[in-house]
Amino acid sequence: MLLTRKSDSAPAGGPRLRRFAGARLSTMDRRMFLKRSGIAAGAGAFASQLPYGTIAPAAADGDKKVEQKRTVCTHCSVGCAVDATVENGVWTRQNPVFESPINLGAHCAKGASVREHGVIEHSHRLKTPMKLVGGKWQRISWDQAINEVGDKLLAIRKDAGPDAVFWVGSSKHNNEQSYLLRKFVSFFGTNNCDHQARICHSTTVAGVANTWGYGAMTNSYNDMQNTKCAMYIGSNAAEAHPVSMLHMLHAKETGAKMIVVDPRFTRTAAKADEYVRIRSGTDIPFLFGMLYHVFKNGWEDQQYINDRVYGMDKVKADVMAKWTPDKVEEVCGVPEAEVYKVAEMMAKNRPSTVVWCMGQTQHTIGNAIVRASCILQLALGNVGVSGGGTNIFRGHDNVQGATDVGPNPDSLPGYYGLATGSWKFWAGVWGVDYEWIKKQYASQELMEKPGTTVSRWIDAVMYPNDVVDQGPNVRAMVYWGHAPNSQTRGKDMIEAMKKLDLMVVIDPYPSATAAMCAMVRKDGVYLLPACTQFETSGSVTASNRSLQWREKVIEPLFESKPDHTLMTKFAEKFGFKNELVKNYEVKKDKDGWDEPTPESILKEINRGTWTIGYTGQSPERLKLHMQNMSTFDVKTLRAKGGPCDGDYYGLPWPCYGTAELKHPGSPNLYQTSRHVMDGGGCFRANFGVERDGVSLLAADGSYPKGGDLTTGYPEFDHVLLKKLGWWDELTDAEKKAAEGKNWKTDTSGGIQRVVLKNHGCHPFGNAKARAVVWNFPDGIPQHREPLYSPRPDMVAKYPTHDDKKTFWRLPTQYKSIQQKNVEDKVAEKFPLVLTSGRLVEYEGGGDETRSNPWLAELQQENFIEINPKDANNRGIQDGEYVWVQSPTGAQITVKAQVTERVAPGTTFIPFHFAGWWMGKDMLEFYPEGSAPIVRAEAVNTNTTYGYDSVTMMQETKTTLCQVAKKA
Ligand code: SF4
Repeated sequence: MLLTRKSDSAPAGGPRLRRFAGARLSTMDRRMFLKRSGIAAGAGAFASQLPYGTIAPAAADGDKKVEQKRTVCTHCSVGCAVDATVENGVWTRQNPVFESPINLGAHCAKGASVREHGVIEHSHRLKTPMKLVGGKWQRISWDQAINEVGDKLLAIRKDAGPDAVFWVGSSKHNNEQSYLLRKFVSFFGTNNCDHQARICHSTTVAGVANTWGYGAMTNSYNDMQNTKCAMYIGSNAAEAHPVSMLHMLHAKETGAKMIVVDPRFTRTAAKADEYVRIRSGTDIPFLFGMLYHVFKNGWEDQQYINDRVYGMDKVKADVMAKWTPDKVEEVCGVPEAEVYKVAEMMAKNRPSTVVWCMGQTQHTIGNAIVRASCILQLALGNVGVSGGGTNIFRGHDNVQGATDVGPNPDSLPGYYGLATGSWKFWAGVWGVDYEWIKKQYASQELMEKPGTTVSRWIDAVMYPNDVVDQGPNVRAMVYWGHAPNSQTRGKDMIEAMKKLDLMVVIDPYPSATAAMCAMVRKDGVYLLPACTQFETSGSVTASNRSLQWREKVIEPLFESKPDHTLMTKFAEKFGFKNELVKNYEVKKDKDGWDEPTPESILKEINRGTWTIGYTGQSPERLKLHMQNMSTFDVKTLRAKGGPCDGDYYGLPWPCYGTAELKHPGSPNLYQTSRHVMDGGGCFRANFGVERDGVSLLAADGSYPKGGDLTTGYPEFDHVLLKKLGWWDELTDAEKKAAEGKNWKTDTSGGIQRVVLKNHGCHPFGNAKARAVVWNFPDGIPQHREPLYSPRPDMVAKYPTHDDKKTFWRLPTQYKSIQQKNVEDKVAEKFPLVLTSGRLVEYEGGGDETRSNPWLAELQQENFIEINPKDANNRGIQDGEYVWVQSPTGAQITVKAQVTERVAPGTTFIPFHFAGWWMGKDMLEFYPEGSAPIVRAEAVNTNTTYGYDSVTMMQETKTTLCQVAKKA
């Protein structure tokens, strides 16, 4: 059943929350709007004065200019489209886009209230630049802010080198801003930059890319309508990606089975045919327990494995020896019959898909867990199949795009590495001298060495200098759209905040960073107001790899500026503005600041990002898709007729070649049943052509439909093209550009054009997926207990890794902490597993959404889910405040929610809250009028040390706590 539009007019009825209806926002014209958007507007915004009627239309005015703007919700990666009505420059109304093939007219609570970002009265946004002076926030001008922050950063760079500054970007930046920030930081001279993806899906990106090619969701939310069975393991999509459930529920209507595997009985589990409760962090025993039954019953797809998978025989031997049903039950607590049932459901209802989110990724062995899921899908022959695949739901609205082209410490845009050749390639795209970039860095060695990660910046500040592998310690942090409370070890973070020379926060909302810093510092902190994505334009990449173009809805509010304008301003201060914007069209804003147009930035991305096919999505093509959403099919995402005929919606990457090639995008990765010019593909030849005498290339007869090469082949370069006799199909100009190049570095696009269009082959080769890898700590995924394990007996059997001396520039502990915890009997003193996750009402660190009165009304306090047995044993009743105590010595106070959702021994706290610190409201530390409406304790004040052994992902899903009644 699809949602149907009831009316073209405004939503019927008045405001839902009538008790605040008297505070309705009055109509105002643009002049009055700007006048009232000064600093005074935000002061004294108390909950009782909030404008709950603001989603309803403002009253009609006689002579008004009414515009419709099409944008995309900023609160998760589903990518729901929003139509905004703007009257005389004021955003007065919003509607879900009914013809959007992604959301079909549906929004969740967050998407339905995005207009709140555009209100003036009672706004909780950061309105002007501010500076901490003597422990108090003081308003300053933009000139002062740019000059003081710029001078201080330049002084630190001069004194200690560029690596003394760490830049945390945002997964809410659009693609153009994310990309520009990586370029900006490179010109500043450091790889110390990162963003949210590090702490949500870095393990996915590494694990999945190293298995079969690209580190992304293989299929799409829509394609889940084609599945016959979906297993959600480590995903609570009903709360984290609500509108995605629309597609799964359609699949259920046509008979698809749904399985949820989770330590908690979540809202998603409530929709499942089969719910399996596992002990937190034991995904590998469970997944390999399933695989045991698959192999034992001969349910694996032998032809597929033979043709397309390397190393499955070795995995099979390991699984059959180690993950017998008794061992599985011992470790993860699931009896054999349940594991068998789920394995049978997945095997006998193909195509079947696996869905995961941070329940799998945020572990010290996250890289191995996600690979175990991939291996299960490979064994069942489910990858590269419509209705199958690994549907990996990303978090923030542009976490996929920010990962693809943004500020990663170990790669340049498009996952080009940091080797000299990659730098030279991008220097060419940017039109700057490679030697000039090199001189910006402290050394070539540091230019080619991955920076440290956002998950560890606190240690880069605090550790003794002689163990920090980069010269200086980090002395300044720039939080450019990132929430500190989404990071673990809050107690340690406060100490690092104290020690910094400088903290700069650039954000539409002051974020918990402001309050945390003001709580422990008197000065050295600056807050700079960035505008939201509704006050600028640009592209955003949904989790399914589709790009959508947001129109600017309204002009920047208050004194805020778009992030790319701010990057340009700071580049001017640092002396490299001309290099940064030399390829862009630049306009002046109302204050005379330079603003590069997002269209011209995207065109530069198009010219450089050949690796992942961000080359075909020109701004013109994306805008055409936004204007013609109704022409796209809901299940296949393909346009049937109309101006986008044949394209897949949003040109999901890879969209190879130049825009002129008209590649339609790739709805399902690695799908050999389609021609490559129809979005088809195969696994990537990224790891050589053989291993120990065994071919890594696909077997004879396994190739994308219609290809001239009917067997496996390596990636294409100028040599292979010549050997095959295809070189003369390039134009003279293309030959000149392609000489000495490969499919990733030929900026003419000629190699991709000839290979794809003329010969139906895949530019990145045709290889086998790797069930076994040789560049990870565990070639075959192994279960290892978390550092803070509730089961010392399991630690003895499944110990963690050895400590690492230097890992992403820092020493990193594994076994030393795990062993000490066993010796200190931490699991006896803190006997409850603490896990964390999302709520439907809020996003990420939550400052934006907790500042939204509609959402704040829905979820007013933080809480801990605790089983009745554990609560009763502690004399705790439902609704009482409790102390949650951490082995670190931290403790937080939240309400007890006594519920069977969690098993005895497990607790859960949502991670969206901040604004209290160990029992104390931090209201006094926010700039006046800018504190979120809902403030509460952050779970990450309590979380402990622990990092993934490949990517430095933080462990948030399994740590320990004690819960005590509050006196
Ligand atoms: Fe859609 Fe996600 Fe926004 Fe909800 S938060 S409306 S599911 S994009």
